[in-house]
Amino acid sequence: MKTLILLLFLVSCSSTNLSSYTPYNVSIKPGEVKLLSLKTPRKNAKGKVSCNNQEIPYLENNGTISIFLAETYFSKLKPFSCQYIEKEEKVTIANIKIEKKAFPFEQLSVDRKKVFYSKKDLKRILKEAKQLKLVYKGNKKDVFFNGPFALPIKSKVTSIYGTKRLFNNNKNSQHLGTDFRAKLGTSIRVSNVGKVVLADDLFFSGNTVIIDHGLGVFTMYGHLSKISVKVGDQMNKGHVVGLSGMSGRVTGPHLHWGVKVHGHWVDGDSLI
Ligand SMILES: [Zn+2]
Repeated sequence: MKTLILLLFLVSCSSTNLSSYTPYNVSIKPGEVKLLSLKTPRKNAKGKVSCNNQEIPYLENNGTISIFLAETYFSKLKPFSCQYIEKEEKVTIANIKIEKKAFPFEQLSVDRKKVFYSKKDLKRILKEAKQLKLVYKGNKKDVFFNGPFALPIKSKVTSIYGTKRLFNNNKNSQHLGTDFRAKLGTSIRVSNVGKVVLADDLFFSGNTVIIDHGLGVFTMYGHLSKISVKVGDQMNKGHVVGLSGMSGRVTGPHLHWGVKVHGHWVDGDSLI
């Protein structure tokens, strides 16, 4: 009997011993997002998951935890790890290696006022930056998305994510979204189930809709001619958020589609 109790004790210890966890090896490129499904380090995991010292929301389901892993465009290519932390215990669940990626270059000419800002515009830009910071905080632990993400429009991509840009021969920036060719008034559809967290006219992206999909994932639809939704609306995949247009800082009518994960703009293509 004593042996049996000892055995049971050992079995129960080994099933909850975090140090016995074998970490996953994952590689990711700058500006990429990956949905990872990892074996749950502990039954009914209630601890925290942290990647590169940033707490990441996760979903636990049937012995796996799912997280979106995102790497910034501005990556220093330094490897990092993800940890599961519960009370005093900490275990590495994934080791992340960053692979190099090259991005293309383009030159654009836009309205001078959208590159050299007036005092009034600068005030507006700063106010909107504050507003957006709050929007992207969201309630990250909610999970709204369901199944794979979809493109917001079936059309030719005119500028890919990560393109280095020179505006009016003067100002450098990076294009941290995807541009699609879109005739004025084309229906723009939401990429997945989510909640509208912004529906407003912004200086750079014009008439803009932002959707919270949960687990730290947001999609953004810019330069619309018409917004068809309001903050708080629940969206199903494929619902129309508005019509394409050329509001904000543009060279012509198109859709700008942005994907933000854990505060980083990432390539929407890697989410599909
Ligand atoms: Zn764009």
